[in-house]
Amino acid sequence: MTSRRQFIVNLSVGSTTFAVAQTAFAQAPMVLETDANAKALGYFADASKTDKVKYPKYAKEQLCSNCALYQGKATDAAAACALFPAKQVAGKAWCSAWAKKA
Ligand code: SF4
Repeated sequence: MTSRRQFIVNLSVGSTTFAVAQTAFAQAPMVLETDANAKALGYFADASKTDKVKYPKYAKEQLCSNCALYQGKATDAAAACALFPAKQVAGKAWCSAWAKKA
């Protein structure tokens, strides 16, 4: 059986681990438009610069920050995306895999 003291120690260690993980992610590099997978997906760090001829389904209200695959809050300047492991995408970016957040 876990003692109250051990429970508090575990909670503290768990919180520290979570905080360290968050800090580590905050330092994850940004996706660059020149990255191979970014090029393949038509990623534009500034969605307003999207090539509308090449990506006609793009609409100006589509941003990473309102995409179903964006892992941050809508107000976050950058966050993880399921398509770009260990990197961050800009909240105001866009790619051809954009899907409306439910
Ligand atoms: Fe942005 Fe969504 Fe494309 Fe990820 S899948 S880069 S969140 S538009």
